[in-house]
Amino acid sequence: MQRFDKLFINGEWVPPHGSGHTTVFNPATEGEVAQVCNADLDDVNAAFAAARAAFPIWSATSAAERADWIRKLHSALERRKDDLAMAITQSMGCPLEIAKIIQVNCVKALEKFAGRAYEMEVEKRINNSLVVREAVGVCAFITPWNYPLYQLIGKVAPALATGCTMVLKPSSVTPLQDIIFAEVVAEIGLPKGVFNLLTGKGGVLGDAMVTHPEADMVSFTGSTATGKRIQQLAADSIKRVCLELGGKSPFIITENAPLEQAVSFGVKDVMINTGQTCIALTRMLVPANKYEEATQIAKKVAESLKVGDPLAKDTYVGPMSSMSQRETVLKYIQKGLDEGAKLVTGGLERPKGLTHGAYVKPTIFRDVHNKMTIAQEEIFGPVICMIPYNTIEEAVSIANDSIYGLSSGVWAGTQEEAIRIARRIRAGGCYVNGGDFNYDAPLGGYKQSGNGREWGEFGIHEFYEIKSMQL
Ligand code: NAP
Repeated sequence: MQRFDKLFINGEWVPPHGSGHTTVFNPATEGEVAQVCNADLDDVNAAFAAARAAFPIWSATSAAERADWIRKLHSALERRKDDLAMAITQSMGCPLEIAKIIQVNCVKALEKFAGRAYEMEVEKRINNSLVVREAVGVCAFITPWNYPLYQLIGKVAPALATGCTMVLKPSSVTPLQDIIFAEVVAEIGLPKGVFNLLTGKGGVLGDAMVTHPEADMVSFTGSTATGKRIQQLAADSIKRVCLELGGKSPFIITENAPLEQAVSFGVKDVMINTGQTCIALTRMLVPANKYEEATQIAKKVAESLKVGDPLAKDTYVGPMSSMSQRETVLKYIQKGLDEGAKLVTGGLERPKGLTHGAYVKPTIFRDVHNKMTIAQEEIFGPVICMIPYNTIEEAVSIANDSIYGLSSGVWAGTQEEAIRIARRIRAGGCYVNGGDFNYDAPLGGYKQSGNGREWGEFGIHEFYEIKSMQL
């Protein structure tokens, strides 16, 4: 078992003021993977002091210098890709071969963010005014456990590109890839204080980070409940707050869509990362006259996905990220049954042969009404609700009947038809006719899914202020 006794503050590994360690568990084996030290409020102060001290010099570097540092970071991280994938698999259960792609490939986005550093040099003349961009300042970053490296890169890369300094706290469930990231920061010799890493519990460190007088901006990815609290806390000092929160995304399959292909895409989309994807298309909306056929296709696809050891090459569905997340998901499955939804496949029993570990069967519910709890609340597990509809009007209305608006999907007979429907869905994104994820496109939510945008050129907008000089 690994043991980490230091925090990364001001360019050095330092012992924490805080006491004790948090244990990182392997959800596949329920065994211990690592012990990671706990920061306390003195450590929070030390980290923000370091980030504040570094800010004037780092924010004054040229775009070319920052781009150079980001490229160095990129090359060094590429060399640690296998370690990063293994750290993620061991701590949250994403199958290793899949983790290498969906969890770790995000490292490549650093190359693009290097280029985006130059956007800070864009100036605009408006009549007698000169409008310039300046780094927002010291950032407080709090990230979740489901795509832990992806969340880190999505915040740290644009912050570095724009000239911000930062203090990051990963989820205490998955701190290991963040520790590797800090090792890489130390290895390349990034100027001290630019990037600081605190490990420990969100419940202990969160408030102090979010309200810290030296934090100019808070970027949080996690649940809507925690996001609401963060926004309230940060309001006192009018900090900029970027929230990337939960989702309950609809997937409309139209009557003329290729049913087999569309349903198969929808099932695999949800089951990857064991349903722990914020943009997962967990409400599948199917024309009533195709409902029986669609449920049978969904059953066949879900039952064909190999569930089990995340280290096995052919595993598609690993364990949930933790035993407590398994409990949460099972409670939702029970709730669905209590409310009258019927199982197409899956359910409360353990998958065959998996006597321990945080496993849940890929589960598909039919006869789901959109007002049911399982259709309204984010389950964050391998669970799909199949909902019938009669007209596109009704499908759009069901799709929009949610407090969330993070993502969506439409599969129609033609791209044009799908885009017409996509435009009517109140969500920050839409996967059209099976379109692929794109690291250069913005990701973020409408409604209670958040207020920020990460990735691509829009991903840096959160990190700069606009100054207008009247000449
Ligand atoms: P969470 O419980 O809200 O935790 C997220 C982070 O907040 C963790 O680092 C956690 O630390 C920390 N935290 C806990 N209590 C806090 C507090 N009082 N103040 C400040 N920080 C606190 O969410 P999660 O269960 O880890 O993540 C799953 C959620 O993230 C889902 O809702 C998912 O949809 C959402 N998500 C959204 C996006 C997006 O782009 N919109 C992407 C990925 C995930 P500890 O782990 O130490 O408690």
